[in-house]
Amino acid sequence: MKIRVLDKFLAAKIAAGEVIERPAAVVKELVENSLDAEACRITVGIEGAGLRLIRVADDGIGIQSSDLRTAFERHATSKITSEDDLENILTMGFRGEALPSIAGVANVEMASRLRGSAIGSVIKIQYGNIVEEGSVGISEGTIITVKDLFGNVPARKKFLRSDAAEVGRISTLVKQLALSYPSVGFNLTVDGRTRFVSSGNGVFRDVLARVYGGRVVESVMDVDGSDGDGRRIWGCVSSPWETRPNRGGINFYVNHRWIQSRLINQAIENTYSGMLMVGRYPIVAIHLEVSVDQLDVNVHPTKREVRFFQEGPIFSLVQRVVREALLSNSPVPLARSNFALQGHNLSTIASRITPVITSSHDGGIANQELITDAYSEERSLIRDKLPILRVLGQLAKTYIVAEGPTGMYLIDQHAAHERIVFELVCSQRLSVQGSMIQGLLSPLTLELSSSQIEIIDLWGEVLKSYGFDGEKFGGSTFLLRGVPSTIAKNMGIDRVFIEILQSLSQSGHENRPDDILAASIACHGAVRAGDSMSQEEMSALLRQLEDLKNPHTCPHGRPTMIELTKRDLDRDFGRR
Ligand code: ADP
Ligand code: MG
Repeated sequence: MKIRVLDKFLAAKIAAGEVIERPAAVVKELVENSLDAEACRITVGIEGAGLRLIRVADDGIGIQSSDLRTAFERHATSKITSEDDLENILTMGFRGEALPSIAGVANVEMASRLRGSAIGSVIKIQYGNIVEEGSVGISEGTIITVKDLFGNVPARKKFLRSDAAEVGRISTLVKQLALSYPSVGFNLTVDGRTRFVSSGNGVFRDVLARVYGGRVVESVMDVDGSDGDGRRIWGCVSSPWETRPNRGGINFYVNHRWIQSRLINQAIENTYSGMLMVGRYPIVAIHLEVSVDQLDVNVHPTKREVRFFQEGPIFSLVQRVVREALLSNSPVPLARSNFALQGHNLSTIASRITPVITSSHDGGIANQELITDAYSEERSLIRDKLPILRVLGQLAKTYIVAEGPTGMYLIDQHAAHERIVFELVCSQRLSVQGSMIQGLLSPLTLELSSSQIEIIDLWGEVLKSYGFDGEKFGGSTFLLRGVPSTIAKNMGIDRVFIEILQSLSQSGHENRPDDILAASIACHGAVRAGDSMSQEEMSALLRQLEDLKNPHTCPHGRPTMIELTKRDLDRDFGRR
């Protein structure tokens, strides 16, 4: 393709001229040129953090001899010719500025052999002046060598960071370019040592594994979906369990361009919201393919930002595709097992499979078996449990609205929390430590009726085992010193205690009152209908509920949730 100098008017329409500020900027421009030249393999070598040498070699289409000199003129490009082309940019470059800018601040040698031509040509430029032109024997493609960068503008070196930091930037850049183009093989060497390689086999996961390591990649899920309007999202996203403490693992590529986008960031964070712990971020690497007329890439000097003409459809496509993956592929069993192994459930699992441990003489292997067995055991329990639910919001300060794999769930916040506290109370009382008691700063003096005193006489010890600590003081007075820690402090503790005595006296004296006690404590410890709850509180509640063996009813037998399946909704909306 012929290289031409753009006319002044067209040149003026191109977003702010870029300045080569650091070695990474040189690498970016050169590699992008190789990509535009349809290279299949690109080799990048740097020495002295890129200041001494940057060499980029490709097996692309090459440049014809007569064009080599033009390539270094300002606004010379083979990629656009008219203003209309600016609206349909398919290439990474289009401004015709990189080569002259680089050649102005370094000693550059470019050797290139056009595909199908017998011999290559070479040009040498020292700080903007052509010093040599000639022919050279090289294989098809282009090799460009940039030496002594900023040798003539030492001021620019002052803005550079340490060598390690500049090398770090280059390495990140090459990895991102490899992720942008999985079908192109990349190779980066730093001072003669290989730093990064990608095979160019076109398998995105393989590149991801090179960048993030195999372990991370095993746990990510593939996403792929289109909207029927020419937009497609594909790539990989992590489960809510594989997270990072910052947004560094979130990457987007729009038509193979690594970009920053608040829009896509927000779509991702919305989709994961309620699934991640506060301050944790997923690993996301997704490509968006849109038709070029949907996009303006000519908005930012380094082309790291793009403008979408229609943001809404992109936002919802990202959300839909990622959400579907999260809800359907999320490795729930494994995730639950992880949780169980870290948390209190380990003791119960271990107690069920103790024989495995005691019958083995090799502690290490036995432990391994324990864990494997615990996994499978937990897995089989999981089917009766809840799927992962994603909080959508709160309704009438009473119901949590959530999304699950098959549809929508409405959760009664009080009933659900009651079940959670109930199980906690029961497990605490049976545990070695016993119930957790919160001592009252000053004991409460309660005047009780004779039937209430009777209950205390009868069940005082049981009450104590649940955390109601106190003693009789004269005929009808009771000193309450402590209450179960699960009961909210602001509940009016005297009223709670009297209500509990009341329900015990109504239940008759025959049986141990455990269930009634645990249920009453749970009822008084749970959030009430009418309490507004934050997103975090609701998510925490759902996480606890998901972990229960019997999450579907409250201790009194009322349902904790109602599911409206997508099928039901589709039917009611006449979609099927
Ligand atoms: P732009 O990429 O914006 O066109 P550049 O200054 O980066 O401008 O490059 C100028 C021209 O040189 C390109 O349009 C292209 O025709 C040619 N060129 C640069 N690098 C290569 C390469 N590695 N292989 C083939 N052609 C190249
Ligand atoms: Mg370019």
